[in-house]
Amino acid sequence: MKTCNLLAPAKINLYLEILGERFDNYHELIMVLQSIELSDYIKINFNGTQNINLYCNNLLVPLNETNIAYRAAQLIIKKFPNSLNLYGGVDIIIDKRIPVAAGLAGGSTDGAAVLLALNLLWKLDLNDYELQKLGEELGSDVPFCINGGTAIATGKGEIINPINKLDNLWIVLAKYQNFSISTPWAYQKHKEQFGKCYEKNDKKKNSNNFELLINAIDQKDGQKIGNLLYNDLEKVVLSEHLMITELKSFMEKMGGLGTMMSGSGPTIFTLCQSREQAEEIKNIIVKTFQDPNLELFISKLSSNGINNIKS
Ligand code: ATP
Repeated sequence: MKTCNLLAPAKINLYLEILGERFDNYHELIMVLQSIELSDYIKINFNGTQNINLYCNNLLVPLNETNIAYRAAQLIIKKFPNSLNLYGGVDIIIDKRIPVAAGLAGGSTDGAAVLLALNLLWKLDLNDYELQKLGEELGSDVPFCINGGTAIATGKGEIINPINKLDNLWIVLAKYQNFSISTPWAYQKHKEQFGKCYEKNDKKKNSNNFELLINAIDQKDGQKIGNLLYNDLEKVVLSEHLMITELKSFMEKMGGLGTMMSGSGPTIFTLCQSREQAEEIKNIIVKTFQDPNLELFISKLSSNGINNIKS
């Protein structure tokens, strides 16, 4: 095998609750993560050298050792130093379709894709659990991105428990192109505003609704899922950014199943029963806002993680 072509899907958060602070300065979380069809396209080729080269068509993505896709290759080389000597280096070519720094795990999914591809190209024979453990070293969202689908994530987000997979619903995603949120900033703000209320880890403040959401997912009941969407970080982002507050309150009046910010934002999504409903909502937003900076996407919930499309 000389090449891997992969689809690396974005995720949204159907639920994100901060339970408290951890000894390592991360937060103890309980989340429901959901893959969506919106994906980066990643091609990985042997390049006949001993180097890892990185290419991306989006100027916002760093092309150096801070890129999570590059870090994934470095991590594999560190753990399996013979593989680079034995098989040779690779070019990693990222066709970026997922908005950057948007709360959609765009970087994490690229990192997961590189772990999967090098496992195949360098014949490492790692199983999914071993790939997830490696992913943990790259970032808390990477383990989920390996298998994707629908899952409860706890700890820092790296402990993954797959649940009944949702793929029957659609979403409209809205993000201002020139506006991003840094994930550490959002958690820091939450700590400043609500840190005093952090309870001892594992005491869910919103536990009743969490259980109801899991039941609704089990029943694939879109209306109930829409009513139970939850994100603790939303209040800190909305309280500081009027533009996102206005976008969200407009979207929630559009008759979808529910509207919420994803992850640390600033992407806002509306859950929809059908593609037609999603198209209709998107068209109304386009006409009303008439803002070329406002990027809108329609996507479907997906039961897939990283998908090796052809070898
Ligand atoms: P998450 O939801 O996992 O917190 P995010 O969706 O909010 O992440 P990313 O798109 O992963 O955000 O980007 C966060 C930052 O990571 C960017 O500002 C960028 O500088 C850096 N980055 C590193 N590697 C990548 C990559 N492969 N794709 C996108 N951004 C990357």
